[in-house]
Amino acid sequence: MSAFSASVLRHDWSLPEVKALFELPFNDLLFQAQTVHRQHFDANRVQVSTLLSIKTGACPEDCKYCPQSGHYNTGLDKEKLMEVEKVLKAAAEAKAIGSTRFCMGAAWKHPSAKDMPYVLKMVEGVKAMGLETCMTLGKLDQEQTRALAAAGLDYYNHNLDTSPEFYGNIITTRTYADRLETLSYVRDAGMKICSGGILGMGESLDDRAGLLIQLANLPEHPESVPINMLVKVKGTPLADEQDVDPFDFIRMLAVARIMMPKSHVRLSAGREQMNEQMQALAFFAGANSIFYGEKLLTTGNPQADKDMLLFKRLGIQPEAREEHDDEVHQAAIEQALVEQRDSALFYDATA
Ligand code: SF4
Repeated sequence: MSAFSASVLRHDWSLPEVKALFELPFNDLLFQAQTVHRQHFDANRVQVSTLLSIKTGACPEDCKYCPQSGHYNTGLDKEKLMEVEKVLKAAAEAKAIGSTRFCMGAAWKHPSAKDMPYVLKMVEGVKAMGLETCMTLGKLDQEQTRALAAAGLDYYNHNLDTSPEFYGNIITTRTYADRLETLSYVRDAGMKICSGGILGMGESLDDRAGLLIQLANLPEHPESVPINMLVKVKGTPLADEQDVDPFDFIRMLAVARIMMPKSHVRLSAGREQMNEQMQALAFFAGANSIFYGEKLLTTGNPQADKDMLLFKRLGIQPEAREEHDDEVHQAAIEQALVEQRDSALFYDATA
């Protein structure tokens, strides 16, 4: 298949053709992915989001990779739902350091009726600051998706995690069909979808291909596709899984880029374990979104200043917001980034 034919939006991917992409020589696959990437994006721009955990730990789900599951003892401090004012303060800080999207995550099976009013206030407040809004709150019903959309929620994150076949090895408290149903409600309510998965849970190549097939064969591709590398946390059942071959991780990003050419492919959890060369290769394979800031929910994230230094060395600029109704704000963000990037303190901190 040529890069050009691959760049057409398709929703009928089959396992043999996706496996054939994975099995291409590495250079051929990366060339194809980069060619597709340049047809739809500025190859030197990366979108930056900040992620805040608004409710941490004691989750009733049993996702085997997750330190927030109440089923495992990982020593994580549990927190109640954060106060709205604290969330808005964190969003203002994220905006000041250049993030264009603010993602709020709660470790819930689903939001309760008593929590919804606070969650909606958070969305309204963050939106009013001129940031794009994203939330991940677990399973939603139709009424909740409509309320979130009305409050101004732009994106809803709900990962499929892996293939339908492997899913039962990782989560038993919620079905794959539940996840697909939530995604369809989110779409029906007019919000954008952020959905991806995790590598390194003991899945096969068929499972990696199967996850991408599920995402690409949705009626519309998710606008954002986070590809995570398992962060092995002591106390979780996957703490001793084998490392993913870094080249296989890059292959996953490249195949995701080819299959969903207009989606933002996000280099997500596990980035802290990746050296700069691997991150550069990930951007070349078509990853064009990162989480930026100190923490990624409960696991570490490279320091924001390190990210900016890497961007500078690679000639990458942070991507402008998708809604261009506030160019003054965008210019201010870019200026703040340049100042931070060039400050003496910044260089001292990374020396
Ligand atoms: S991944 Fe989400 S749903 Fe699963 S245990 Fe962790 S917080 Fe709960």
